[in-house]
Amino acid sequence: MKVERETALRAHEQRFREAGRVFGAPARVNLIGEHTDYTGGLVMPMAIGFRTEAVVSGRSDGRAVFYSENFGEEASFEIASMGRSPEGRWSDYPAGVLWCLREEGIEVGGFNMTLVGDVPLGAGLSSSASVEVATAMALLAHAGASLPMEKIATLCRRAENEYVGAKSGIMDQFVVVGAVAERAMLLDCRSLEYELLPLPAQVRVVICNSMVKHAVATGEYGDRRDEVEAGQAVLRKRLGIELLRDATVADLEACRDEMSAASFARCRHIITENGRVVMAKEALLRGDVERFGRLMVEAHASMRDDFAASCEEVDVLVEIAMRQEGCYGARITGGGFGGCTVNVVRAADAEPFVEALRGEYAEKTAIAAECFVCAPGDGALAMAAQEVGR
Ligand code: ADP
Ligand code: MG
Repeated sequence: MKVERETALRAHEQRFREAGRVFGAPARVNLIGEHTDYTGGLVMPMAIGFRTEAVVSGRSDGRAVFYSENFGEEASFEIASMGRSPEGRWSDYPAGVLWCLREEGIEVGGFNMTLVGDVPLGAGLSSSASVEVATAMALLAHAGASLPMEKIATLCRRAENEYVGAKSGIMDQFVVVGAVAERAMLLDCRSLEYELLPLPAQVRVVICNSMVKHAVATGEYGDRRDEVEAGQAVLRKRLGIELLRDATVADLEACRDEMSAASFARCRHIITENGRVVMAKEALLRGDVERFGRLMVEAHASMRDDFAASCEEVDVLVEIAMRQEGCYGARITGGGFGGCTVNVVRAADAEPFVEALRGEYAEKTAIAAECFVCAPGDGALAMAAQEVGR
């Protein structure tokens, strides 16, 4: 961890010929609670060991200069005259954060910033939130300002929604800012209340990338959002229930005739998934990993059957995983239609688990999956606090 910070500091010095201050933010994975965020529901993500570092130093000409070591590219502009003008490239993420800080009335003087991360890009581990939050932490320090946790998260989300132009819920940014090591975070996406829950030390969280990205993914993702919206609108009109979050399966049944079969199934996934997150929380509080794992498997089945957002390769990964020694649970994680699975595995079995999973998956699909063995890590604020205490 320390080495990466030093790498980032060195990269900054090489690029800009001056020393900077470094701020980090992790990536994240969602353990359970999929497609629940945008209807005010419950999610349970955790921060993982991958991270982005942002190194910042001042400059006197009022310009913002972002350099990404990962892309080997620079973006530069005058801060005072900056508008909302995304360019469709990586620099939109940090520039969006700067734009939002200024919208909040925070004065940010000229700076050089180096961004360097080891988060796999576009793999569903939220390199985007990682880069946004690292940028926010660095720019806040540079401006001599501070904001509460919730504000940093909502600001970074706004950067992604309004500046970059990506539709995303609050989960990613919130957990990337506020996570704490050895804990999963139960987040209520409506109230932004959260609880930190203990994950037993003897388990590891294994993330496995199916390496599948369906070309139709964006279209299907949009379809799901529309189907959910349509179902929710019926509940609103018929029963006065504003958000799916407050509906029961019985409520949904009562409105079944008025919505499409697709809307019914998608909404049923979300309603039952919120229930599973609550049960998963109770399981963690009891230290009952077996129960937690079974809920993950149920969540996967619901994503596959009701939400229709899995795919053959991901189902194969889950099926192989559940046959392995020491695997408590496995499910698709992220938006769906490919991407990663998340697996909860006994620590001692994690390495052989990865071997077996990669081997069998390659045999069945001829795809080399990437697997990462993780444990819950600190969010950006806890990281920064540790630096201060050092
Ligand atoms: P995910 O969040 O799942 O990784 P996204 O498409 O939401 O995928 O975000 C990935 C994008 O975030 C990258 O294509 C890039 O534009 C930006 N990004 C992430 N990490 C960095 C980095 N270290 N330097 C510059 N841009 C980055
Ligand atoms: Mg993202």
